[in-house]
Amino acid sequence: MDKRVAVMGGTFDPIHLGHLVVAQEVADELGLDRVLFVPSGQPPHKQGAKVTAAELRAEMVRLAIADNPCFQLCLLELERPGPSYTYDTVRQLLDQGNYQELYFITGADAVLEILTWHRVRELLALCHFIAVTRPGFELEQLREVQGRLGTQLGQRIRPFTVPSLAISSSDIRARVARGKSIKYLVHPEVEKFIVNNNLYRF
Ligand code: ATP
Ligand code: MG
Repeated sequence: MDKRVAVMGGTFDPIHLGHLVVAQEVADELGLDRVLFVPSGQPPHKQGAKVTAAELRAEMVRLAIADNPCFQLCLLELERPGPSYTYDTVRQLLDQGNYQELYFITGADAVLEILTWHRVRELLALCHFIAVTRPGFELEQLREVQGRLGTQLGQRIRPFTVPSLAISSSDIRARVARGKSIKYLVHPEVEKFIVNNNLYRF
């Protein structure tokens, strides 16, 4: 049984080195047994936006983490119909009974919107949040969010500094569309996959 596990949720369209650095740093610092990468099926906050087929996003995650025994791909959100709510995912993972303690990793941008998340109070009661720094977003504002949640729930979110990588999936998609290089921004296997499958060209 994995005792201490973190979930790294995302659209991963595509997964990039920013995601991987975050996961590694949190795993090291918290002494985690495993990080589960959970690609979202239908991201609730990206409805209407054009998102690459879930199977392709999941395959890129698989390629990017293949060389790290501590990282694992988890397809729960792809197998579940409807919008991908983190609350349902965390509930499902805990119900499986394989994990003693669950952490959920989010970047500064995502965590500052947490008050809009589905069943956020119940979610925070189920797992700890690790709010990682991200260039371009102010983690200082987290205190205000914590204040609104109240002392007890607010404390369930822990700010966490990681090496800054100003990389985003949106920027990678834009670079590919403009014919610019994405070398050193994504895992080499992911770079190959994007080329071979003609992703993000238009
Ligand atoms: P997009 O530009 O399409 O929104 P993204 O780069 O933000 O893509 P997501 O899949 O949306 O990637 O992010 C998944 C999680 O990883 C989120 O919690 C996000 O805040 C975090 N994250 C992504 N990139 C970084 C980064 N460079 N540094 C720290 N956290 C990051
Ligand atoms: Mg994002």
